[in-house]
Amino acid sequence: MRQLKTFFIRTYGCQMNELDSEIMVGQLEKRGLTRIDDETDADLLIFNTCSIRDLAERKVMGKIGQLGRSKQKRSIIGVTGCMAMAKKETLFRKLPHVDFVIGTNNISELGDVLDEVVQSGKQTIRTDDQFEENLDYLVAKRDDPVKAFVSIIRGCDKFCTYCVVPYTRGQEVSRPPESIVEECERLVQNGYKEITLLGQNVNSYGKDKPEWNCLFHDLLYRLDKIPGLKRIRFMTSHPVDITLDLMHAIRDLPSICEFVHFPVQAGSNRILKKMHRVYTVEKYLEKVELMRSIVPNVSLGTDIIVGFPTETEEEFQMTYDIFKQIRYSVAFIFAYSARKGTPAFRWKDDISEAVKQERLQRLLTLHNEICIEDRKSLLGTEIEVLIEKRGRDEKHLKGRSRCWKNVILTGDDSLIGTLQNVKVTGFNHQTLLGEVAGHPTEMSKLNLIN
Ligand code: SF4
Repeated sequence: MRQLKTFFIRTYGCQMNELDSEIMVGQLEKRGLTRIDDETDADLLIFNTCSIRDLAERKVMGKIGQLGRSKQKRSIIGVTGCMAMAKKETLFRKLPHVDFVIGTNNISELGDVLDEVVQSGKQTIRTDDQFEENLDYLVAKRDDPVKAFVSIIRGCDKFCTYCVVPYTRGQEVSRPPESIVEECERLVQNGYKEITLLGQNVNSYGKDKPEWNCLFHDLLYRLDKIPGLKRIRFMTSHPVDITLDLMHAIRDLPSICEFVHFPVQAGSNRILKKMHRVYTVEKYLEKVELMRSIVPNVSLGTDIIVGFPTETEEEFQMTYDIFKQIRYSVAFIFAYSARKGTPAFRWKDDISEAVKQERLQRLLTLHNEICIEDRKSLLGTEIEVLIEKRGRDEKHLKGRSRCWKNVILTGDDSLIGTLQNVKVTGFNHQTLLGEVAGHPTEMSKLNLIN
């Protein structure tokens, strides 16, 4: 029987996929396989895929298709992640050299699937609709020694008309709080300083399990008590489900970063309705105002889709205006692409690519201008930075502020993994430049500059 010794894994898409890859890496290393960076040499190749955009899918299909044509040694090839869920058996038809397909709800079966493929030589597929509640998160093998992703809720019940997630990741399933606390405690014991809680909609946490009596803000109160856990982040927050209790938690708990990814998606009520976002612009703005009155130094991030079917120039302008009004510090802006299996796929994709790109560029330019103004306003101030690693040039250290701003500074390796007050001395087009202020932070949470 063939023995697998090495594996290569490539991850596409979101942080949830990154975490799933870390879990698979842990499982494979436990079985004695060694991870290598050179795909041409690996006995096993895994592509953990994303379906959120057409481009992401085409890239993976192209990449795997190329492997089928290449003359490299015959590796076992597996497709996992959202594309596995969206395409299921059809992947074997399009890519006959793929050996196995594992969906987002069957990650813990990776070992069994490999045994089956090696023994039988047959193509194997596992794509259950229900999330496996017994997934062993603790096996995850993380590359980053300072910050980690922790999954708290899987799936999504919102069914936005453009989005494949409810179909590829299924309905919302919260993870038991004890299991989350245990994983976070272990991470802190292993030196981690920052944890990002992940879910397609973290604000829904616990609603599917009323017997736990633990909603998202309750979970934050429990996690904040873990000694040594310096920073907690979370994403993503659906605007409809954000609560006053959560805003108070962000204000009151020292470890919670004052940054909320709060996607507006569009600035026109007609388009929001067509997207099935279940809020109006007015309601969204009310929540932003409330949040800013409770946590005055909060920074906001967003996702935006331009060129949604039937979006007029005036409606795009409304998105532009709301962006300008809120001044998001982080933004993921995309041109609409129709996803098979979603309600919007049936509608005519009637905005030309040229118009979509032109709208996209206008928003990107605005975002850039806002970021430059923000960075300028921070010159000479001190901000709290978690030093994460050496930069690519090896000369500088890289870190992030509480609201996710990239900071580059000089210093030795002993600073990695520490929180420092950093004086902002300059900036370039994507990062702040600074130097360690040389004294510990005494600032209270609400005075921290983000
Ligand atoms: S909230 Fe909407 S966009 Fe976000 S994952 Fe759920 S369906 Fe997709």
